[in-house]
Amino acid sequence: MIEFRNVSKTFARKGNAILALDNINLKIEQGDIFGIIGYSGAGKSTLLRLINRLETPGTGEVMLNGESLQDVSAKRLQAIKKDIGMIFQNFNLLNAKTVFHNVAIPLILQGKDHAFIQARVAELLDFVNLGDKAHSFPDELSGGQKQRVGIARALATNPSVLLCDEATSALDPHTTVQILLLLKEINLRYGITIVLITHEMSVVQKICNKVAVMEKGRVVEHGDVYALFAEPRHAVTASFVQSVIHDRLPAKAEALLQGSGRGLRLEFVGGTAQQPIINRVIKEYAIEINILFASMSEVQNRILGFMIVQIQGEDTQVNGAIDYLRLAGVKISDV
Ligand code: ADP
Repeated sequence: MIEFRNVSKTFARKGNAILALDNINLKIEQGDIFGIIGYSGAGKSTLLRLINRLETPGTGEVMLNGESLQDVSAKRLQAIKKDIGMIFQNFNLLNAKTVFHNVAIPLILQGKDHAFIQARVAELLDFVNLGDKAHSFPDELSGGQKQRVGIARALATNPSVLLCDEATSALDPHTTVQILLLLKEINLRYGITIVLITHEMSVVQKICNKVAVMEKGRVVEHGDVYALFAEPRHAVTASFVQSVIHDRLPAKAEALLQGSGRGLRLEFVGGTAQQPIINRVIKEYAIEINILFASMSEVQNRILGFMIVQIQGEDTQVNGAIDYLRLAGVKISDV
């Protein structure tokens, strides 16, 4: 488990103090795929880099499996760092070295023997589907292939934590999905805890089970990804969620709401998204429902659905229908 306890960090720049992290308290459990999302300058990189001591906290503590990274000896810190792999947005490969050599570097630094390195690198390259590229150079590879080399290198020492610094930001959408699927497979197959920073909510939606939202050096909201998508509490979270989940009437369609009838926003979470609830309510009550907008999204293998509807009928029937929908688990608000 990774734990940040009251962590703050200030940088000095041109005589000014910049509070990059402001009293962070956060726990990342073993086996999580934990996303840290925020706009540029929110403090994501600084937070990530504290985990492998590329940065040190100004105040507070970073704990790894109950051990404070601030209290350990230099020797112990070296051992801990071997347990943490990292991949980068710009891949950080050595262009003058072959793919094989790039992946072998951490093992060479560990003093492993030739036969071990040969076998381990071959195994890693097979795992990331680059078995035929061992003798290529990074410049001969696509962005996705370069990131696969980065991933193989990060896994070389069998780490239990993998840090991903905007690992898919330089990739096209198709390649991004492939790399995210590979990260998910690494998490499932080896139980490796993944901490990733990103400014794209689609990345969080695709693979994370937990997420922390950062703004101005603070964690403004964190928790289970589905719950946070279904009910964002902070404005920054809501704006990130709206970048991938469409839950508002498109501006051009707003005129549709002007007619008679009551405009409602329905939110279908969990099991309610899979039931024919609208059909049932129309049968039960003397009402008409005009669906103006609907969207369905998949988050953490569950469905999240939104509808904007206009409901018409006698007040008693409309109110009865609304109660029925609420009882069925649909969240309702007026629009
Ligand atoms: P993010 O990863 O969310 O873009 P960062 O952690 O990189 O945010 O930066 C948070 C704040 O700290 C920013 O204002 C940034 O300019 C500042 N900062 C980060 N690293 C340094 C540094 N080494 N020296 C001075 N300021 C820094």
